[in-house]
Amino acid sequence: MASVNIRFTKLYINNEFVDSLSGNTFPTQNPATGQKIADVSEADKADVDLAVKAAKAAFTRGSEWRNMDASARAKLINKLADLIERDAKSLAALETSDNGKPLEAAILEILGSADVLRYYAGFCDKIHGNTIPSDGNQFALTRKEPIGVVGQIIPWNYPIPMAIWKWGPALAAGCTIVLKPAEQTPLTALELAALSKEAGFPKGVINVLNGFGETCGAALAMHNDVRKICFTGSTEIGHKIMEYSAKSNLKSVNLELGGKSPLVIFDDANLDEAVEIAYNAIFSNQGQNCCAGSRTFVQTAIYDEFVRRAAEKARARKVGDPLKSGTQQGPQVDKPSLDKILRLVESGIKEGAKLEAGGKQVGNVGYFVEPTVFSNVKDDMSIAKEEIFGPVQCILKFNTMEEVIERANNTQYGLASGVITNNINNAMVFAQAVEAGSVWINCYAPISPQTPFGGFKMSGLGRDLGADSLSGYLETKTISIKLPCKN
Ligand code: NAD
Repeated sequence: MASVNIRFTKLYINNEFVDSLSGNTFPTQNPATGQKIADVSEADKADVDLAVKAAKAAFTRGSEWRNMDASARAKLINKLADLIERDAKSLAALETSDNGKPLEAAILEILGSADVLRYYAGFCDKIHGNTIPSDGNQFALTRKEPIGVVGQIIPWNYPIPMAIWKWGPALAAGCTIVLKPAEQTPLTALELAALSKEAGFPKGVINVLNGFGETCGAALAMHNDVRKICFTGSTEIGHKIMEYSAKSNLKSVNLELGGKSPLVIFDDANLDEAVEIAYNAIFSNQGQNCCAGSRTFVQTAIYDEFVRRAAEKARARKVGDPLKSGTQQGPQVDKPSLDKILRLVESGIKEGAKLEAGGKQVGNVGYFVEPTVFSNVKDDMSIAKEEIFGPVQCILKFNTMEEVIERANNTQYGLASGVITNNINNAMVFAQAVEAGSVWINCYAPISPQTPFGGFKMSGLGRDLGADSLSGYLETKTISIKLPCKN
């Protein structure tokens, strides 16, 4: 098994690791033990100014990056993917130590992230505009141009994939980047930065600043030389990001926010399959998943048996040392997260839901939670409305299609959804009616580089992944040329 080696803890600006100007640092801990594993440089506004300056210089007309052939940009992105694959095991060990996710899951995420880079590398020399039959004696065409310096702010639940989902399209478009990872998981982004240098990215193209949201994150989102801000995180902070843009330079805003996604199981479904899909939909990544199937709607005829099997499956989940092979569930990311989950579990019990499995902290070292299952969950309970972001399955009962559509949509969120049925009409009626950015039929969260991912309503604005994400990093320039005659 790969050992954990913390090589980088400083800020990454202009292809160099540097101390923060203030000299301040903050600790990061291993959530499996609660112990500090490193002190990391803490960026604030002054460091943001430096990093944005570097990214702006790298984007200047005539710079190495701007003069680079698009096909050469693709080679660099593919090289970064190669290096990530080469180091997958050590990156995974570091991710597990900083975030708590099981090592085997971390490896799969990292290999998936390399695939995302390769997908976007393929776009580099295929980004082009149109020729347009405009009115009058003129010839018109469009050019797709990189938007410029982009700020990217990401959460802690998938540190490497979140960084790469944002780097891939930004780099393919030809933008330059200042990334702020989450303060809970600062380490692996610095490894990615070092790999980008090894791959040969020119200085200033990629910069990584660790720090806190209200200081470093806000300064980045407020910066007048940042042309676009891409944020993944809570809906609460999503509001602030839009405010920062409005108060500064009206930079373009991309938001990937929270969810309370419905997974609807009709009574014609294969019960074993449905239980398995619903289990993975909520419990994967310790339930710390924006698109988690966190409201499991089950049709009346199969409800009791579904609940029995779901509780049995949850009780059998292996919770423990995330570095150990076979562990299915590691710790939650930190103490505030643990406390929030336990508080919501208590509220579920108080508000009348039936606790079928789990409900407690596991041990008193680290931040482990028992896989928890509630039945008899009603739409107005806090556990059915709030994003728990933990391993808590809430099972609700429904009778008819019309009823479940209305209840599924009765939320401020609209990130994802699922439906399990053997009836194509049920599947497609639900798929068309649900207000969500993704609908998964007889599966849950088969996310791939090619498929756009993002939210309706208060789950976000814009998309990650797919061609949609790339277009968000491009401006369209129209060029019209006066001609002496029409043809
Ligand atoms: P969070 O919003 O608290 O933090 C996310 C990031 O924003 C962190 O880097 C944080 O430092 C930064 N931040 C905090 N305050 C800020 C401010 N005032 N200005 C600028 N930046 C600020 O979210 P979290 O609790 O760390 O992450 C979990 C949330 O992320 C959940 O709501 C989850 O659903 C969401 N999420 C969404 C997606 C998606 O693709 N839609 C993916 C993963 C997570």
